[in-house]
Amino acid sequence: MLKGKTALVTGSTSGIGLGIAKALARQGAHIILNGFGDAEGPKAQVQDAMGDSGARIGYHSADMSKAADIEDMFAYAAREFGQVDILVNNAGIQHVANVESFPPERWDAIIAINLSSAFHTSRLALPAMQKANWGRIINVASVHGLVASAGKAAYVAAKHGIVGLTKVTALENATTGVTCNAICPGWVLTPLVQKQVDDKAAQLGISNDEAKKQLLGEKEPSMQFTTPEELGELAVFFCSPAAGNVRGVAWNMDGGWAAQ
Ligand code: NAD
Repeated sequence: MLKGKTALVTGSTSGIGLGIAKALARQGAHIILNGFGDAEGPKAQVQDAMGDSGARIGYHSADMSKAADIEDMFAYAAREFGQVDILVNNAGIQHVANVESFPPERWDAIIAINLSSAFHTSRLALPAMQKANWGRIINVASVHGLVASAGKAAYVAAKHGIVGLTKVTALENATTGVTCNAICPGWVLTPLVQKQVDDKAAQLGISNDEAKKQLLGEKEPSMQFTTPEELGELAVFFCSPAAGNVRGVAWNMDGGWAAQ
């Protein structure tokens, strides 16, 4: 379905971003990976998902908190792939503390990586998408783009912000073939959440399994983690012709979290 298209997925060396990159690769898209840490393992997984589609894999190590790095990544994409047709803004970090003790530098980092980076990538991707009259921008927000939890001021502010950015981008391109939508996962058992599980287990002196059950029990009625594979399939749907008039939605995949 996506043969000939190029997808750039930020923060795709791990977790949800890697799941989305693999799902788009299965549809035949060229994939540009981004993120910290080892890129070879993720590349091999994406290659495996591509099979013999003939699509190519790229990688750029841009730090998404730095606008100059993001510009460099788009120059690389233009040089190596022509243009970005599908942009998935996924890179994100978390820090948990109440407002009065929230470290200002953590606030700045979360706003830069979880929110401002999506503005920079979108402003750089849109002109070529508009010219082609086809493009897909998918912002990985969170259920925290729709509702709040204590201790997550910067994260909730950034995720509410990216839902707002999604709506504006969708409206500004509403008469074109360029759509912009957000995905709002509940708990997904990635390294970002495993740290919260570990912290809870240590704080309460309980096992890892018990800490997982408590996290789910507090928020997610299904008592199940959403998976990167499920989120990948939702991203594929947003890229499909059937989703051509889905514009500016914030689609939660959260086991009923926001329905309460
Ligand atoms: P993760 O920690 O597994 O992956 C995060 C990715 O972002 C990694 O590839 C990492 O290298 C990259 N990254 C971090 N800082 C970066 C930076 N400055 N520049 C470039 N890349 C950077 O986390 P995840 O759970 O897969 O989270 C992915 C996205 O999904 C985030 O935006 C997160 O807020 C969102 N999300 C996660 C959950 C969850 O339960 N895990 C729920 C809702 C939303």
